[in-house]
Amino acid sequence: MIKAQIPDIKVLLSTPKNIVIVPHKNPDGDAMGSTLGLYHYLKSLNHNAIVVAPNDYPDFLKWLPGDDTVIKFESETEDSKALITNADIIFTLDFNAFHRAGEHMATALETATALKIMIDHHQQPDDYANFTYSDVSMSSTCEMVYNFIEMLDDTKRIDVKIATCLYVGIMTDTGSFRFSATTSRTHFVIGSLIEKGANNSEIHNNIFDTNSYSRLQLLGRAMTNLKVLPELRTAYITLSQAELDEFNFKKGDTEGFVNYALSLKGIIFAAIFIESAKDRIIKISLRSKGEFSVNEFSRAHFHGGGHTNAAGGRSETDMSSTIMNFISILPQYKQELSQI
Ligand code: 5GP
Ligand code: MN
Repeated sequence: MIKAQIPDIKVLLSTPKNIVIVPHKNPDGDAMGSTLGLYHYLKSLNHNAIVVAPNDYPDFLKWLPGDDTVIKFESETEDSKALITNADIIFTLDFNAFHRAGEHMATALETATALKIMIDHHQQPDDYANFTYSDVSMSSTCEMVYNFIEMLDDTKRIDVKIATCLYVGIMTDTGSFRFSATTSRTHFVIGSLIEKGANNSEIHNNIFDTNSYSRLQLLGRAMTNLKVLPELRTAYITLSQAELDEFNFKKGDTEGFVNYALSLKGIIFAAIFIESAKDRIIKISLRSKGEFSVNEFSRAHFHGGGHTNAAGGRSETDMSSTIMNFISILPQYKQELSQI
C-alpha cells in the first residue's frame, strides 16, 4: 500500500459509512490522538464514525477533543460488539495484530465482516487488513494519519480539533521531538498542525504538567528502586503492587519513568517492571539507544514487541523470578550491549 490503493479508498469514503476506529489496549497519546484525529476527519465527511477503545486511558488524555464520544469495549461490551458487527469499515490504528486490542475485543474484530484498514508504525504487521498502511520508519501513527489525509488531497479539512489530536500523538511518541524517528518531515507536519490551530504550548502543558503529588512520590520510589548493571550498560526499575497502592496509583502514573533509567550516563538499555495483581502479570516496558532492538528482545523473552528502541511485554511469574530471569538472559546480549 498505500498510494496505489488511494483511489479505491476515496471511492469507499465517498458515501456515508458506519466506521469504527480502534486504538490498541491501554491506549497512549499516539493511539488516542490518531483515532480521535481520524474520527474528526471522518465526521467532517459525514460518516457515522466512532472510536471504540479496548479499555480506559489515562486522565492526561481526557481533555482531547472528542474524548466524550469514545466507547470502551471493557466497560461497554455489548454496545461495542454491536458497533463492530454493524461496521462497514474498521480502522485499526497504532497496532498491527488483533491480540493488541485484548483477548475479547480481538475475537470481535476477527469475526467482523467490515472492511479493515490498518494505519500503524510498529514492526512485523499481521496480514488482516484489506488496506495496510504500515511504515516502521514513521515517528507516530498520528504523522501517518496526516499523510493519509494528505494522500486523499484533503489537508484543507484539517481543523483545530484534528490538528490538536494529531499534535498530541506526534509529541508523545517522539518524546517531544527528540527520538531518532523525528525527521524534518515530522517537523513539517507539526508546523502545519500549528498553522491549523494546534496550540503547542497548551497541549504540552495539558499532557505533562498535570502531575499529582502522589505520582511524584511514586516516581521517587521508582528512582529509589533503580538498579544499574554497568558492565551490561543496563538499568532497571521495579514497582510492586504494594508500592503502587501506597502511592494511590492511577492509570498513566508510571508513563515515562523508564526514560529516567535510560538517561543515566553510559546506559543503553532500560527496563521497568510493574506488577499488576489484577492481571497476575508483571508488565514490562523496555527502552534502548542505538542498534539494540528491544522489539526483538521482548519478542524472544517476554511475549511482547514494539519498535527497535521502545517495546513492551509481560511476565507471568512473580517479580523476583522475573528479575532473576531478566538478569540471567542479559549476558547473551553482552556483545550487542557493549557496542556504540
Ligand atoms: P510501552 O512500554 O510504552 O507500553 O510501549 C512501548 C511500545 O511498545 C509502544 O509502541 C507499544 O505499542 C508497544 N508495546 C507495548 N506492549 C506491547 C506488547 O505487549 N506487545 C507488542 N507487540 N507491543 C507492545
Ligand atoms: Mn505509536
